[in-house]
Amino acid sequence: MNLTKHLKKPQYYYDVIGEETKRVFYNFLKCFDLNKIFFSKKEKSLNFLQFNKIIIQSMSSTIFINFEHLIEFSDELSDVIQEQYIRVEPYLRRSLSEYLRNNLQKISNAKEFWISLYNVPNKKKVEIVDCRVLNKLISISGTVTKIADCYPKLLLGTFECSNVACGFKIWHTEQNFLYKEPKNCINCGNINWILITNDSIFVFIQKMRIQGIYSN
Ligand SMILES: [Zn+2]
Repeated sequence: MNLTKHLKKPQYYYDVIGEETKRVFYNFLKCFDLNKIFFSKKEKSLNFLQFNKIIIQSMSSTIFINFEHLIEFSDELSDVIQEQYIRVEPYLRRSLSEYLRNNLQKISNAKEFWISLYNVPNKKKVEIVDCRVLNKLISISGTVTKIADCYPKLLLGTFECSNVACGFKIWHTEQNFLYKEPKNCINCGNINWILITNDSIFVFIQKMRIQGIYSN
């Protein structure tokens, strides 16, 4: 019997900065005032049980976090999120999922959680944005002139080795906006993979066009 065929453990490439960001962000969720993180717009104080109930009942899987609270917690953490956003964003997501699963009951393992950051400082006018801000987290101002239709994009790909005799599966490989197959199969050395769409996670992406605000 080929045991590796039944291996369901997700496989990630180890990234020191990503893992460290995940660890510090977890501490932020653990140590920072929960009411501030999750209910920053409400004055009413909620205890953890009430918080639990709201998250479970809520249809939304997006948690809104005030970026000013991240700065207040750690300059280093907020800097790395701003400077290397595309690199560390998957680790923030994993950290949040881990935190919620460790602290709340009745959360399905299949549920993905998302982080939406607001109040990111140093708002830039869209006309001065150039390639130097690529992969960074910035806040911009401008007028939205066009919104395209939503389309699905692969977020976490599950691949199966195309060698029928092997069938080794790699679960939930982070795609980071580029289609990325695993390298050689660690079981048989084959380099060809089949994407298993039913076991992969897709998200809807929507593009918009923004132009500068002209006074006249
Ligand atoms: Zn294989």
